[in-house]
Amino acid sequence: MARERISLVELLRRHPVDLSALQPAPAEPTGRELSARVRAIHHKPCSVCGQMCATSRVHTTPEQGPRWVDLCWDHGLATMPVSRMPDTVEGILAELREAAAEVAAELGRPVPMTVWTDKDGWRDEPRS
Ligand SMILES: [Zn+2]
Repeated sequence: MARERISLVELLRRHPVDLSALQPAPAEPTGRELSARVRAIHHKPCSVCGQMCATSRVHTTPEQGPRWVDLCWDHGLATMPVSRMPDTVEGILAELREAAAEVAAELGRPVPMTVWTDKDGWRDEPRS
């Protein structure tokens, strides 16, 4: 399978998977529950293609409720949620400053923040 990014819903729409045959899952599994599931499905077949499983996701429908969808490496990567983290230093710094401002607003006082970003000095206080 190509490394196309698609949602789990789209993956299941494209492939004939009998959702009623999938095992019931917690609606919002904890990290521990997900880890236990991944250990339990080791060497079992992908719900979509039959290759060996590498991960699992929960898919919920009104008819079936939450069900485990066990996925191989390719299908797991294809349906991995896209990171919403900034991908530039400036974007990361902007998020850190925004978070510091929120904390400062909650505390009612300024929150000092200095960020080390490279060998040339502090981003906010460059070395001369
Ligand atoms: Zn697969």
